[in-house]
Amino acid sequence: MPPRATPAALRKLQAACRDCHVCVDAGIIPEANPTFSGVWGAPFFLVGQAPGPAERESRRPFSGRAGKELDRWMVRAGFTSAEEFRRLTYIAALMRCFPGRNRAGNGDLRPPPAAVANCAHWLDAELELLKPRVLVLVGQMAIARFLGPGTLESRVGRKFGERPVIVPLPHPSGQSRWLNDHANRARLEKALAMLAKLRAEALV
Ligand code: SF4
Repeated sequence: MPPRATPAALRKLQAACRDCHVCVDAGIIPEANPTFSGVWGAPFFLVGQAPGPAERESRRPFSGRAGKELDRWMVRAGFTSAEEFRRLTYIAALMRCFPGRNRAGNGDLRPPPAAVANCAHWLDAELELLKPRVLVLVGQMAIARFLGPGTLESRVGRKFGERPVIVPLPHPSGQSRWLNDHANRARLEKALAMLAKLRAEALV
């Protein structure tokens, strides 16, 4: 039977997740550093891809360069500050431990499917407990996990579902050239305007 949805159940789940080292035992990663943040009652739930080296150190999601850009987006989306965005948002990822650097050393590894599969139950359990009003999906992998395959162009700037309302965003890492395109920047602005409206509704 699933646990009753209570703050204590969430804290218990978070404690178990922080202790998780399944992917180390399976030889997928050398060390476990499960990274996520958020508290009971957060109306927004954001799903990213995986932590990077900055997050491995800080154990705070989106604390590197991409995170600063995400914070700026959220202020553009009507949150009064990055702190408010983080207070109102539970932040998780498809893979919660740093997957490692790629061989060329110029980027992070894409989360291996086995790690994403191992990690999925944490995400499912949090969503079940928190039942967020708004699910923000950051980047292609997170979008595909909930909405299936599709282009960013067909997703960003639209919202999906009702409870939760799903709002897809591109990844803020700056590695992708997707936002160099004027039409795509307009799609992002549309998505941020949707988030502004949803934030206002969530705070009523
Ligand atoms: S990536 Fe997820 S499943 Fe794998 S060790 Fe980290 S928390 Fe556990």
